[in-house]
Amino acid sequence: MIIHLKKESDKQRIQDLINHTAGITFEQSGQTVLVTSSKIKSVPETFHSLIEEQFVMESDIQLAHNSYIKKRSVKIGQLELGTNQSTHLMAGPCSVESWDQLDRSASFLSGLGIKTIRAGCFKPRTSPYTFQGLGEEGLRLLIKVREKYGLNIITEVKDSTHVDLVLKHADIIQIGTKAMYDTSILRACGRTKKPVLLKRGFGSTLQEFVQAAEFILSQGNPNVLLCERGIRTFESKTRFTLDLTGIAFLKEYTNLPVVVDPSHAMGYRYGVADLTRAAVAMGVDGLLIETHPNPNQAQSDAAQQLDFPTFEQMFSTLKPVAESVGRKIS
Ligand code: PEP
Ligand code: MN
Repeated sequence: MIIHLKKESDKQRIQDLINHTAGITFEQSGQTVLVTSSKIKSVPETFHSLIEEQFVMESDIQLAHNSYIKKRSVKIGQLELGTNQSTHLMAGPCSVESWDQLDRSASFLSGLGIKTIRAGCFKPRTSPYTFQGLGEEGLRLLIKVREKYGLNIITEVKDSTHVDLVLKHADIIQIGTKAMYDTSILRACGRTKKPVLLKRGFGSTLQEFVQAAEFILSQGNPNVLLCERGIRTFESKTRFTLDLTGIAFLKEYTNLPVVVDPSHAMGYRYGVADLTRAAVAMGVDGLLIETHPNPNQAQSDAAQQLDFPTFEQMFSTLKPVAESVGRKIS
């Protein structure tokens, strides 16, 4: 259950309640919030005087459930995701490879009016023998491109060795599909107020996915974006399977903005535009799409990144789709 504690409560009594429930607390709008296991449905009467409001929850999807808070929105610079009014496009190369590559990407994207560039510096590769990302140098290039074009930057944290660095510099912190279960990363991201884009583990259920978000929310960071990026199924013709039904679930039951990454789901250039339009038609709050000045030369995810003409063509088709569901593209 979620318990909003009265502001003037005795500290020792609060501590007794925390000990009794083995729950965790965080501050929200100047108030202490206690979250216990959802198996707890009530607390002994002796603690009732500490409680301002309480929410009995069905499962450990608690802070992210829309029966607790109807809808949350996340501010990114001037933009706000989760208002039901727009679908925010985040795009860019899979990895930062060089200044020239990043600068060309940023110039292209800002020319289209896109406000957020994506690119990884610490890449969670499946082979140790492939490009692992430029690391700190990549982050420096991203900072430079943000200054030059006034773009927001989203980049991923892969493990705890660089979590503080990414937290400090990124405008949006991306937690990748493989890191979704890393509770030290999740908790560290919970201790900041920066927006966190949490990708669904490709083998995780929706319950596990949203519970991973609970690790961030319960540390006091309400700025979480849920990103569906494809799950592993029996199908091997495509890289992953984009779970549109899961997106419908997230929209129906959670209060967090939903972002879709069609690039990693598809794994190939073909299909990315169709999946993007499908996601826009579902009324998602954001999109994360890979595009590269020269995809065939890309150091990671070469097969799925769109070249600029293809991206631009796809981009030009999104507005009417968004309008058909009462949104605009931002
Ligand atoms: C990426 O965004 O480049 C990436 C590695 O994503 P994922 O964690 O979804 O594989
Ligand atoms: Mn990638």
